Amino acid sequence: MSEVKSIVVIGAGTMGSGIALTAAMSGLQAFQVDVAQPVLDRALASHKKILSRNVEKQRMTQAEADATMERLTYTTSLSDARDADWAVEAVLEKADLKKTVFGQMVETFRPDVVLATNTSSISITQIAASVGSHAPRVIGMHFFNPVPVMKLVEVIKGLATSEETTARTIALAQRMGKTPVPANDRAGFVSNRVLMPLINEAFYAWMEGVAEPEHIDEIMKLGCNFPMGPLRLADFIGLDVCHDIMMVLYHELGDQKYFPCPKLRQLVTAGRLGDKSGRGVFDYSRK
Ligand code: NAD
Repeated sequence: MSEVKSIVVIGAGTMGSGIALTAAMSGLQAFQVDVAQPVLDRALASHKKILSRNVEKQRMTQAEADATMERLTYTTSLSDARDADWAVEAVLEKADLKKTVFGQMVETFRPDVVLATNTSSISITQIAASVGSHAPRVIGMHFFNPVPVMKLVEVIKGLATSEETTARTIALAQRMGKTPVPANDRAGFVSNRVLMPLINEAFYAWMEGVAEPEHIDEIMKLGCNFPMGPLRLADFIGLDVCHDIMMVLYHELGDQKYFPCPKLRQLVTAGRLGDKSGRGVFDYSRK
């Protein structure tokens, strides 16, 4: 088993771009892979912007920012990253898509490479089962948004995840400046088992006219000391991501209370996905 010097992050959206940047900032060579070139272009632009803001605020020198950019490679081809020492999957929250990507990961990377998933809710055991004898290499490495800022990595072992994979994941998370905390492999783990029903309930409160969206958020901020209201947070996470996580909770835990609120479903159907589409519960088009 070689020392981890490079990482490949598959998916360059909200989470993948944050994971790749954080890895590069911590000294790792980072390959950023996505099927969509425009997404890679956006990730590159966002990385440059975040680093130059860090330089302005004197959190890093210009030389450190330049060296970080040099450690990043952007590509639509997974095979460009075939020599990477670690892999993190951060594609959409769809079990079938993740299983397809894990099949490609097994074919592409060395057998000593850990295959981590940033899934928010899908069973690690289920993803691992799709790669048969490679299951001991599979683990949940659940980062939070925005990745460069948020300290937590939820570490989730599947039924077959090896102790070595777990120990190495904890070590890598720490090396990336994060605090790894274990959670068991139940739908949504801890974070989204608790957070998503709360967000869903905020949509019900809006739909039933309990209060306007801005008032729901204000009440939760001032009354419960939330740094961000649940509806603003939903936009930040992505309403499609929130919807997909609720569907996983609903199917896996088998209780109607987890079914996504019709108001949330309606916005997703309309393409109002939150910050990433310019409009969700709130309007960001003038930003
Ligand atoms: P996103 O929609 O912003 O990005 C997903 C990316 O995956 C897209 O750019 C898409 O082009 C890419 N993709 C799709 N198929 C691919 C493939 N075969 N190969 C490579 N790239 C592919 O989604 P996101 O919010 O970054 O979420 C990614 C994962 O992280 C999901 O599993 C989600 O549940 C999880 N997550 C999200 C958050 C959040 O706050 N958004 C937080 C923690 C975990």
